[in-house]
Amino acid sequence: MTTSIGTGRLHEGGLDCQNLCDICGTSRTTRKHTACAKLRQALYAAPVPQRTAAQLLQRQGYRIQNTSAGSICLSRGNDYIRIDAAGQKHRALGARK
Ligand SMILES: [Zn+2]
Repeated sequence: MTTSIGTGRLHEGGLDCQNLCDICGTSRTTRKHTACAKLRQALYAAPVPQRTAAQLLQRQGYRIQNTSAGSICLSRGNDYIRIDAAGQKHRALGARK
């Protein structure tokens, strides 16, 4: 059993990608990621400009919420961004109040 909590070790450089879901950001072992797998498939099936834009946002902490009508929607907190098929970003305001 290994844990990095409390050891001060940060796994920078992508080691955590082995265990953390790149879509929802939680451990792959804690719950099923069927929905995440679908989003990931949609991401990899997306046109390159769109996928690149989405992956850039993922690196900034955005998470993919859904893909619909050729768009990929990501959010970070109350920040919502929709990326169209051409890779153009459209800021969307959160509907939550
Ligand atoms: Zn997931």
